[in-house]
Amino acid sequence: MSTSPNPYRLARDVVPSAYRIFLTPDLEAATFAGRVEIDVDVNASVTALVLNALDVTLGAAVLVADGATWRSGPAVLDHTYETATFAFDEALPQGPATVTIEYTGVLNDLLVGFYRSTFTDEHDVTHTIATTQFEHSDARRAFPCFDEPSFKATFQVNLTVPAHLKAYSNSPETSRTDLGGGLAAVSFAPTMKMSTYLVAFVVGEFEESTTIDVDGTPLRVIFPPGKAHLAALALECGEFSLRFFSSYFDIPYPGDKLDMIAIPDFAFGAMENLGLVTYRETALLVGGPNASIAEQQRVGEVVSHELAHMWFGDLVTMEWWEGIWLNEAFATFCAALCNDAFRPEWKTWTGVGVFRDTALQVDGLHSTRAIEYEVVSPEETRGMFDVLTYEKGGSVLRMLELYLGAEVYRDGIRVYLKRHSYANTVTTDLWDALEEVSGQPVRDLMNTWIRQGGHPLVSLEGGLISQQPFAYGVARGTSAIGTSWLTPVFTRSLDGGPPSRHLLGDTPLKVVDASPVVLNAGGWGVFRSRYGTHEMAALAGRLDELDELERATLMADSWAALLAGHVTWAEFLTLAQGLGQQDEPSTWTSVATAVSFVNRVLDEDRRAAFSRVVSDLFGPQFARLGWRAREGESELTPQLRSLVIGVLGTIGRDESIRAHAATLFEANTMDGDLARTILRVVADQHRPGDYETFLERREHAVTPQEEQRYLWSLSDFPDEAIALDAAAKCFGTFRNQDGAIVLGLLTTNRVSGRAVWEYLTTRWDEAVEKFPPSTLSRLAAGLPTFITDDVFADTVEKFHTEHSLGGEQRMIEQQVERMRVGLAFAEAVRPQI
Ligand SMILES: [Zn+2]
Repeated sequence: MSTSPNPYRLARDVVPSAYRIFLTPDLEAATFAGRVEIDVDVNASVTALVLNALDVTLGAAVLVADGATWRSGPAVLDHTYETATFAFDEALPQGPATVTIEYTGVLNDLLVGFYRSTFTDEHDVTHTIATTQFEHSDARRAFPCFDEPSFKATFQVNLTVPAHLKAYSNSPETSRTDLGGGLAAVSFAPTMKMSTYLVAFVVGEFEESTTIDVDGTPLRVIFPPGKAHLAALALECGEFSLRFFSSYFDIPYPGDKLDMIAIPDFAFGAMENLGLVTYRETALLVGGPNASIAEQQRVGEVVSHELAHMWFGDLVTMEWWEGIWLNEAFATFCAALCNDAFRPEWKTWTGVGVFRDTALQVDGLHSTRAIEYEVVSPEETRGMFDVLTYEKGGSVLRMLELYLGAEVYRDGIRVYLKRHSYANTVTTDLWDALEEVSGQPVRDLMNTWIRQGGHPLVSLEGGLISQQPFAYGVARGTSAIGTSWLTPVFTRSLDGGPPSRHLLGDTPLKVVDASPVVLNAGGWGVFRSRYGTHEMAALAGRLDELDELERATLMADSWAALLAGHVTWAEFLTLAQGLGQQDEPSTWTSVATAVSFVNRVLDEDRRAAFSRVVSDLFGPQFARLGWRAREGESELTPQLRSLVIGVLGTIGRDESIRAHAATLFEANTMDGDLARTILRVVADQHRPGDYETFLERREHAVTPQEEQRYLWSLSDFPDEAIALDAAAKCFGTFRNQDGAIVLGLLTTNRVSGRAVWEYLTTRWDEAVEKFPPSTLSRLAAGLPTFITDDVFADTVEKFHTEHSLGGEQRMIEQQVERMRVGLAFAEAVRPQI
């Protein structure tokens, strides 16, 4: 095979086996000089070498084979395919050879490739860090390479750095030599055979936690100076996860050591570089009496997600980018499995149910997508980093696990990982391993979930279960929602007995459980449920007998049905009123979302009346929960307290709650679990001077989470001048990693969001240039809230159609469709209130 049919992929005429990378970053000048030596096998007669390279200035390639040397002409760069071609005067000898290329580059501010991050210390001195982010296709910005996941090789990294700085890479340091003149040369051991996107190196001022020996693997947490007190949870979770996954996969950790490092500027949550996992600060560093459970859960979730990748992703890697969904979905599933064991009180699987619902909210749109789709250009990969990959994909795997049985599923995973270690796979390799172990039709079943978009609405009526595609509205054009699924469905009777297991296809199935019957027993099925009138009536009075996730799923499905126009507001409200006194944030989340949506579509007079409905619904919860934690309450009760106070303090217009929130804010004594809500309720009151205090406290925040709470809460001021001021600060004052996120949040404000969106359109090109590409879709976060003005909606749609974000445009189209669904909902629900 001499050429690949996909023009974005390199030919396999020349295949790398080992890289030696030499880099000298100049942190002051934000540049770097590099040299790469690549051991290759030349497998065909070629007169040119083609590698990936982007935004680097390259010298000629020098190839040495059998003691003879070949020197190429100047590199010819191709910007479309991001390649560099080095032509030689004659055919290169076949067999092993070493290619050497010298080059220079710039430490960019886009948070991709080899980039610059900064932090300011307590003496207001700014320090610069040089760090990397290569997934999915940005190693080529740091060194010319065969930048595809299937070109696995070993990597030996050498860094020349200012002698007072730390340097880290994937493997342990093997030597550090003082070069004089304030410079040191640091070398690292060669890595295992792996993909280019997993290579990492970081240079800067850092401190390290103590090193824990985890059954032979040294584990540390690394952070900018002064943050040691925030590293304990990550270290504990890292240790737990390493042991958990070594045992679950029945394969030892594949790296030599494991460092987890917090980077002040980071576009994603974290990145699974083998042995050197990089994190956004809020995803690694947390602590103090002020940390909320949600913030701790976030650290637990991200740490175990990344460590699952050390096996699933790093040891066994997708062949090409369309397989990235499985990589991410599986790590999401694994993180929940691990955290459920790490902190049972977090009720991780219930939380996953809430996240699944966020995915189904997108998956019920005609502009959804199949979980796996053909990826031609690496650019198209960007569209895969969304809720459909992580949350829907992870939930589909959970559904499969419970359908096959946890042990059978685990054994299939073990077969898959052992069979493909140090190699690459396609999705069906996993189905084949699971099918082999389980004897079940895994490939056929999963194809209906992976290769088409959407999910079914499963109905229970007249003793039969049946399914049809679920959609929020009528398609305006083509629809990506599929037609037919093989759906694992469990049902159970509230009067006892084990759940019944079904594999539902196009033919309705008979349910034998005695009434009342819970459809989606256990709450892990990836579908919406609908009950017939009789079935619903039998169930409605006994909601307290459902499991928590069953109840949360029922409410989420009811909210979806309301939004889709399948049930009325009165029907939804009746169900919510039957929820009783469970301390379940997961269940009440859907009610709060529904209430917030309805509140948006009402005019001022009716909003005042609606606030009384809201008070009647949430008031009894507050009467029970109060402001302070009670002795013996569950770990998650504070999250419900927070949710209830947030609703009553804003939509419910509860003056005493608003006043008490202001008192706590002024005294700056906010409990971690309530802090974000208190800020929301305070901002909503729009009192003079508070905005300035928010900015002030953000700047001097003592934890990354505190900084984030103030930053996110800027969007809660119902005032255009304030919102526009905050929006302008996204283009300079705030960190680049947060700019698009804060702008998006600002557009969601009921009062000021529209003005911010209009402002954003005037600086759109600048935003697209400036913010990390992976965060750009966040700019459209407010679209689903523009549901009161058809003319404005037309303007919004037109603008976003004319300003495509390329790989992420599908996410924008989804937000546009959500806006249309919301407009239809607004029209339908307004007369019902
Ligand atoms: Zn991941």
